[in-house]
Amino acid sequence: MKEWMKNIRQVDPYVPGEQPALKEMVKLNTNENPYPPAPGVKKLCENLPTDELRLYPDTEAEVLVSALSQYYNLEKNQIFIGVGSDDVLAMAFLTFFNSQKPILFPDITYSFYDVWAELFRIPYETPPLDENFRIKKEDYYRENGGVVIANPNAPTSICEDLVFAEDILEHNRDVVVIIDEAYIDFGGNSALQLLKKYDNLLVVQTFSKSRSMAGLRIGFAMGNPELIRALNEVKFSYNSYTMNMVSQRLGVEAVRDTSYFDQCRKKIMETRERTKTALRNMGFSFPDSKANFLFITHETVAAKDIFEAMKKENIFVRYFNKPRIDNYLRVTIGTDEEMDLFLKKLGNYIDSKK
Ligand SMILES: *Cc1c(COP(=O)(O)O)cnc(C)c1O
Repeated sequence: MKEWMKNIRQVDPYVPGEQPALKEMVKLNTNENPYPPAPGVKKLCENLPTDELRLYPDTEAEVLVSALSQYYNLEKNQIFIGVGSDDVLAMAFLTFFNSQKPILFPDITYSFYDVWAELFRIPYETPPLDENFRIKKEDYYRENGGVVIANPNAPTSICEDLVFAEDILEHNRDVVVIIDEAYIDFGGNSALQLLKKYDNLLVVQTFSKSRSMAGLRIGFAMGNPELIRALNEVKFSYNSYTMNMVSQRLGVEAVRDTSYFDQCRKKIMETRERTKTALRNMGFSFPDSKANFLFITHETVAAKDIFEAMKKENIFVRYFNKPRIDNYLRVTIGTDEEMDLFLKKLGNYIDSKK
């Protein structure tokens, strides 16, 4: 090995779900929204003030912060914007987790958390979920350097209630507690209402799922002004111009259209409930999802075989070759038509295995 190679940072990067470039496919593998963004987004796209592109964007994304502060009824200094919640979460790890004590997050959760912990050299421990994939709250009572909880959790889809969130916060007054609410708009209760009581709570959300804008990369954190100030200072020490002007403007259009937002979420939740029934009848079981995906396992047919069989039909779902969850599939809720096609092909395959 060459001398200089010894100083290269060794990382095991996060592996996202594949983005196949096929014309005819049903893509249920990355929890994207099957519906287009709000009509105002399209309208603005067609009339973008391109002359303004020569200017640097607003470093604090004021227009977007403003729109979000109105929607969530928060002060502007309680909101931090990032390039997707991945960027927000990475910034939060870098900003808040500087203790020698390990941060805590479940063994089965969003698989980016351990990647950031490794990248930033943050010590961490991963208390195992129980046999029903529930978080054991007592595991988070011990001394730690911070807590990260995805709620609803990914890929399990389970949403804990506010009593749970408050219990975690009550037992962790001296560290920052991050609640990653990427899927909260699909039927869960946001921890936002706990912000008044807990100045160490950071709630992170995204436009990628419920607002149909994964391609634009918009995420945000909400919390006490001190936390937001600290996040901004770290961000400005790294790259001030993260959020481009176009995303800022288009994001505002999405936030403004509350009725489209509600309509879209409702549709996905209805499709989810209908899909649950159909899957149950096929011999699948799954935790009771409050997200835009289901985490399913079959009584007799192996998940990996189903994954491969669906792929041959150009239906993409997510399979994780990891301990404890390697007999499960994560299936995003698509349109009714997409789910009907998926259920039909799935049913045929399961029948062929009997
Ligand atoms: C999708 C997802 C994110 C990241 O979303 P962005 O597209 O970066 O906003 C963060 N956390 C969880 C749990 C997710 O599923």
